[in-house]
Amino acid sequence: MLEAIDLVKHFPVRGSDALVHALNGVSLSLAAGETLGIVGESGCGKSTLAKVLVRLEDPTSGRVVLDGVDLTELRGRRLRAHRRHIQMVFQDPYSSLDPRQSVGAALDEVLTVHGIGSSDADRTRRVAELLDLVGLSPAFAQRLPHEMSGGQRQRVGIARALAPEPRVLLLDEPVSALDVSVRAEVMNLLVHLRSELQLAYLFISHDVAMVRQISDRVAVMYFGRVVEQGGWKSVLSVHGGDPLHPYTAGLRGAVPVPDPTVAQPLAATVVGEVPNPVAPPSGCPFHPRCPLAEDVCRTALPPLEEIRDEHLAACHVAARSLTGSR
Ligand code: SF4
Repeated sequence: MLEAIDLVKHFPVRGSDALVHALNGVSLSLAAGETLGIVGESGCGKSTLAKVLVRLEDPTSGRVVLDGVDLTELRGRRLRAHRRHIQMVFQDPYSSLDPRQSVGAALDEVLTVHGIGSSDADRTRRVAELLDLVGLSPAFAQRLPHEMSGGQRQRVGIARALAPEPRVLLLDEPVSALDVSVRAEVMNLLVHLRSELQLAYLFISHDVAMVRQISDRVAVMYFGRVVEQGGWKSVLSVHGGDPLHPYTAGLRGAVPVPDPTVAQPLAATVVGEVPNPVAPPSGCPFHPRCPLAEDVCRTALPPLEEIRDEHLAACHVAARSLTGSR
């Protein structure tokens, strides 16, 4: 249904010829009703990817295809008509809402922009339905953002994303800014809405445990690239999972496992810093931090390729050890 094809996004650095390499060729796909988790450290390009997918940012190159239509070629009304099918939920519900606008007015505005509802009364009824969908009473339509808790604000953020009746939600760290006690409630709401409305999710997070909880498949991003992709059980599960890329193994190993039958720590964690995005390392961008790096890793970029059934990785060593082909 949704496809990203070789997306590149470079931002110019003001006052110089340098470029920030935010996305360096990301390809992935999302099927109807599926949840694809995107995981990686801060600065790996996850949020830029989401913004390019909804065309809040134009890609430097590459394509975003929804149901066979290339969104990167659309402008104006035609773009808006297609974009209603992909909506975004932001990390910080407070800054994504207008502090002077009531919840009802914010939702009504989205409905109006997308031509949903034939009258004021129709839209008022729809606003109440949206609030009910996210577990809020109709009285919340009168509230201003500062009159709600963080969890309530994020529920409003989700209602606003649902207002245009999308088929895909891009959830960019949707629970990271919430208190721990509220996170589970919002995660449960997202799971409920997914089956109730048959939505597809791109769930973006630095939190391996959250991605593991909600995803069907997982894409691990590092330095603006997907370095591993597969079913969540193969990539992130602590019971039988077997990540192929040393970066994924480090991310997975850094998460405590709430299970006394699983030995801890699981694996080495990732050490060192993400490289400077203005000066990408040669070869595999992970080589300055990789415990398995070899000479070839410093000169040749490993392609993302299928190493096991529907389990892809971009790593010279993983490819050689599993296929014996190099
Ligand atoms: Fe490490 Fe080399 Fe694999 Fe990159 S290609 S992850 S440096 S072993």
